[in-house]
Amino acid sequence: MFIYTKTLFIETYRNRDCMAKKKILFIGTGGTITAKMIDGSWKPGEFTEEELLNFIPEIKNIAEITTVIVFNTDSSNMQPKYWLKLAEIINENYLEYDGFIITHGTDTMHYTASALSFLLQNLSKPIVLTGSQVPPQQLGSDTKRNVLDAVRVATDADIHEVIIVFNSKILRGNRVKKFREVEFEAFESVGMLPLGIIEHDIRHTGEHYQNDNADAKLKFFDKLEEKICIQKITPGFNPEIISKLIELGYKGIVIEGFGAGNVPIDENSLIPEIKNAVNKGVPIVISSQCAIGFSWMYLYECGKKALDAGAIPGHDMISETAMTKLMWILGNYPEYNIRQIKKLFLKDISGEVSDIRSPKEKRIWEYSL
Ligand code: ASP
Repeated sequence: MFIYTKTLFIETYRNRDCMAKKKILFIGTGGTITAKMIDGSWKPGEFTEEELLNFIPEIKNIAEITTVIVFNTDSSNMQPKYWLKLAEIINENYLEYDGFIITHGTDTMHYTASALSFLLQNLSKPIVLTGSQVPPQQLGSDTKRNVLDAVRVATDADIHEVIIVFNSKILRGNRVKKFREVEFEAFESVGMLPLGIIEHDIRHTGEHYQNDNADAKLKFFDKLEEKICIQKITPGFNPEIISKLIELGYKGIVIEGFGAGNVPIDENSLIPEIKNAVNKGVPIVISSQCAIGFSWMYLYECGKKALDAGAIPGHDMISETAMTKLMWILGNYPEYNIRQIKKLFLKDISGEVSDIRSPKEKRIWEYSL
């Protein structure tokens, strides 16, 4: 299930004429893209990255690719320490390669992408995550298309951020949710348009977060606070669960509130629990449980009271990104008090949060889908 290798397996494809080609480090972690049907279920980790690339011979004409297998697992098994390992490998190899591709299971690909967008900042190279919804050898698999697209995008000098390339789209890694469990259109960009589409040529929408300084120096962070969780609120939710999470050692909690970031304030009120957590120095972020949802906590009394109790609004950050951002902040700035955590949390670090601060300013992107 988990093949973390100390001596990394490396296989390099070299053509005689490859000297001018972009150098890509192709990092394997498992997922459906490495799966075979075994005993009636799809089991990841049955292909090496080398075998995967052999399905797509034309790739060798586009880039010089080095492969490395770091994990070989269903992405449901991913852990925050695995994200750190991926960031460390990219940091160690950063100067040697023009771009990085991580093949990954789709179930948690967006969590990994989001975490990497905080661990690896000030990028001047693309870091592309891709995978497939159907294993490579199954009829009608999306593997070939996605890998080929990932290589094309990774060799494109215009994108300098952590992205997901999937089903002909380029999506910002920290703005993505998995919407569909097996259909090819697995991911949707939330809060912004995709960065681009891939057809005969690669078309950018102009949204990308471009670092114009080609000599920009990578900022690598090697810590994450793992004791951060997402807690969804439901009607009848027992507010004491928040205290129990703190007793279990959780250092920060992202609450998925209703609608625009609302929580119960009458029966089963969450307000005393929020005050208690904040007094203990545990940040409480409130995001929206709407799939396409913004947290404007001042809009209703049910959000405003939580705001006054010290909760931090998630604005248009998706809750997965709110979680990885809190992990990054608490891991790397453990001395910060709640006020400093809030300030950094609401700052745009890698394109994960917009400047807009009211529903009226919401972009029209969602109506154009
Ligand atoms: N369960 C698989 C995984 O996340 C799903 C996929 O890769 O599409 O590893």
